[in-house]
Amino acid sequence: MATMRRPLIAGNWKMNLDHLQAIAFTQKLGWALKDAKYIASDVEVALFPPFTDLRSLQTLINADSLPFELGAQDLSVHDDGAHTGDVSGAFLKALECSYVIVGHSERRADHHETDDTVAAKSAAARRHELTPIVCVGETAEDLELHGASKVPVDQLTVVLNALSKEDDYVVAYEPVWAIGSGQAATADQANDVARALRETISSVHGPDKAESTRILYGGSVKAANIASFMSREHVDGALVGGASLDVSEFSSLIQFPKHVTLDS
Ligand code: PEP
Repeated sequence: MATMRRPLIAGNWKMNLDHLQAIAFTQKLGWALKDAKYIASDVEVALFPPFTDLRSLQTLINADSLPFELGAQDLSVHDDGAHTGDVSGAFLKALECSYVIVGHSERRADHHETDDTVAAKSAAARRHELTPIVCVGETAEDLELHGASKVPVDQLTVVLNALSKEDDYVVAYEPVWAIGSGQAATADQANDVARALRETISSVHGPDKAESTRILYGGSVKAANIASFMSREHVDGALVGGASLDVSEFSSLIQFPKHVTLDS
């Protein structure tokens, strides 16, 4: 991992934890990290609760000065109007969200989101000064047919063409076969695809943008394997699902700079 890119550990809670559970969880995570003398400048932590928890967590984070950024799991391509059930980026910004996940494979699968939809959502995020975390990744079938990089690179290219090099964005490489399966990619596999994604950023938005943009790996990341991913040149953090729902596991994962790994 290049030192100029601050590591980002992002916890995607998916459809778990109501607002009361979210408050209790976030308080405990704050205490665990404080006890461990976590240094926020070393590793940025962002939490992605369900929409219904955002206001409660905004209030808690501000009241207790907790070292967490807030993000949403999705947003509308529209800014306002007759779009029942959708949530505007403007509303997320008003709740002091910094980030929004776009193109998670579960949304691509459950809601038939296309690359064009993901690109439109990324542009909507930028209209409201939110940083999109753009998820890309191949299915097991894609992997067999095309290898690991082709689908993620194609998906990212569509999004990059809808943004400019002045836009802040984060990329998350999440092989679909690794999400929630317990079967993570190897650190070398993740690094190879992250390198291909960085080259794609370089060719669309230039080498400086490629050098400064953070690329996360996601897919069955846990405390036991995070350090090996973070030891690779092109992996700048992790998008974490299941392991972000357990206070001690997530707090240990966040403290990866203290881990010793034979693999690193
Ligand atoms: C995710 O949902 O983005 C994810 C990576 O999940 P998990 O960590 O559970 O594989």
